Amino acid sequence: MPSLSSSIRERYLHTLERITAAETRAGRAAGSARLVVVTKSQPREVVEAALEAGVKILGENYPEEAVEKIKAIGKVDAEWHMIGHVQSRKADLIPANFALMHSLDSLKLAHRLERFAAENPLPVLLEFNVGGEETKSGWQAADESRWNEFLPEIDMMLKLRRLTIRGLMTMPPLFDDPEQTRPHFQKLRRLRDFFKQNFPAADWSELSMGTSADFVAAVEEGATLVRVGTAIVGPRPPKRQE
Ligand SMILES: *Cc1c(COP(=O)(O)O)cnc(C)c1O
Repeated sequence: MPSLSSSIRERYLHTLERITAAETRAGRAAGSARLVVVTKSQPREVVEAALEAGVKILGENYPEEAVEKIKAIGKVDAEWHMIGHVQSRKADLIPANFALMHSLDSLKLAHRLERFAAENPLPVLLEFNVGGEETKSGWQAADESRWNEFLPEIDMMLKLRRLTIRGLMTMPPLFDDPEQTRPHFQKLRRLRDFFKQNFPAADWSELSMGTSADFVAAVEEGATLVRVGTAIVGPRPPKRQE
């Protein structure tokens, strides 16, 4: 039987190849889309196998579970990214432990993070819900005619000194056919362009979008970060309660 790390390595390299092919098709530079390997709910052994397989960015969703793994594993040649919804009362765990937060989804959380980021300034992406599903986190951005309403809050977040906005993130509805997700990716890119027009001095370069089901379409539509879990590390064990 192949070891866990060699089978993860094979799927990781295969995913990287598909990303490179999508970049080429879209006329983008090789390496302009980075691969975040999502290890939420996966035990420490899976994370260690992923590191051994050469994974450079790990994505986690649950702050306490993630910090336990980060502390247990110790110093690594990889970045940890927070990609899940963070409750305000857990904001203190984020700045010291993560290189990038993909899932900043409210002004209140931004203020909390700012409080805890004195020693560790935190790069963040703003999460938008472009599909309009009620259960998803993120600012509701389905209605394009109301995007203007975001501008005052964006302005306030751009003024926070310890958080640095780097772009946007979305988790669109899941479809069987990735072609159905594509319009949502296009919409996030348009929203990014809208913010860029309104705040040209800020950095809007990152677009975090695409999962196992649809990362190829996401790269074709401009993703600079794709978040792939099951296609690389296999199915998740049931989520434990926090
Ligand atoms: C779980 C998760 C992913 C990865 O999903 P897969 O289907 O395992 O690839 C990506 N992004 C977010 C925000 C997630 O919660």
